Amino acid sequence: MTAIALQKKLENVVDKSSGLLRRTMVALIIPVFNESGSVAAFLRETRGIIDPLESDQLGFTLLFVNDGSTDATLETLIAAQKADSRIRIVDLSRNFGKEAALTAGLDACDADAAIPIDVDLQDPPEVIPQMLEHWQNGSEVVIAKRADRSTDTLVKSKTAGLFYRVHNALSHTQIPENVGDFRLMDRAVLDVLKDMPERRRFMKGLFAWVGFETSVVEYKRAARSGGRSTFTPWKLWNLALEGITSFSNIPLEIWGYVGSAISVLAFLYGGLLAGRAIFFGADVPGYTSLMVSILFLGGVQLIGIGVLGQYLGRVYDEVKQRPVYVVRKIYEGEE
Ligand code: UDP
Ligand code: MG
Repeated sequence: MTAIALQKKLENVVDKSSGLLRRTMVALIIPVFNESGSVAAFLRETRGIIDPLESDQLGFTLLFVNDGSTDATLETLIAAQKADSRIRIVDLSRNFGKEAALTAGLDACDADAAIPIDVDLQDPPEVIPQMLEHWQNGSEVVIAKRADRSTDTLVKSKTAGLFYRVHNALSHTQIPENVGDFRLMDRAVLDVLKDMPERRRFMKGLFAWVGFETSVVEYKRAARSGGRSTFTPWKLWNLALEGITSFSNIPLEIWGYVGSAISVLAFLYGGLLAGRAIFFGADVPGYTSLMVSILFLGGVQLIGIGVLGQYLGRVYDEVKQRPVYVVRKIYEGEE
């Protein structure tokens, strides 16, 4: 698909506030946390893709969300903005995590469509023209799907696969496998996401939950361009828990059934013991069965309480109604 073909299909849109015709705007939403080393390469690659697409009908915004970086990321971005007025920077007051940073970016975005994209070039900007094409053809969501996970370690791809299976078995909201945050979303979708009141935001799940006319483009995921991933196994485990507790109540409800099953078994076993005592006389050495049942039940109860704790924690966070992120400053590109 060529840039020319794309430009032809786009038309100017009527601006809601001024009533004037203006260009269709697409925003790239780029959360960054200690990425001073990756910004330059990202801008170089991305400009190579989006610059030829720019026209009287179509414009781009590069909306960076600085998620409390402690290195020179913000300075790097401010310097880049001086040379490129399409860059906007939302500077958060501290590190809130990628999900919150993404939320901040989507909230700040006033474009006609938004594309969340990682700065490390693991989400290849070459896919953007295809996404725009699908969008022009009527899709409100265009998800980019990894054709394979060959650049991930075996452990990461296996555990990711397991997460999707467990999540989708437990939840009505089906999250497509091998799909990240990299996708195009129409204004209509962005408005719905903006109005979602929940504080603990598992974006992949929320994206899937909103629905809309969705199409898919495939890509090959590259290795990280520079720096290293800040997602430790512990963070990923917590993200997985977040996903499941956000979109399924089954872990909470299952304990009623587990308890019932154990009660039935205990009742039958009790009957057996009573029968034996009646017909064969009292049988004092019952230490093993006693110990086993106490330990087993204790374990089951603790698991149940732990699961309750997971959900209670979520409820607590929602009730507090704290904002998902705090913006320190927004740096607008000067026109
Ligand atoms: N990121 C962020 N806040 C965080 C952690 C990561 O904004 O607390 C950003 C990071 O700068 C990058 C994107 O999220 O642009 C994806 O992060 P990373 O590449 O570390 O994740 P992975 O590719 O390993 O899933
Ligand atoms: Mg990455």
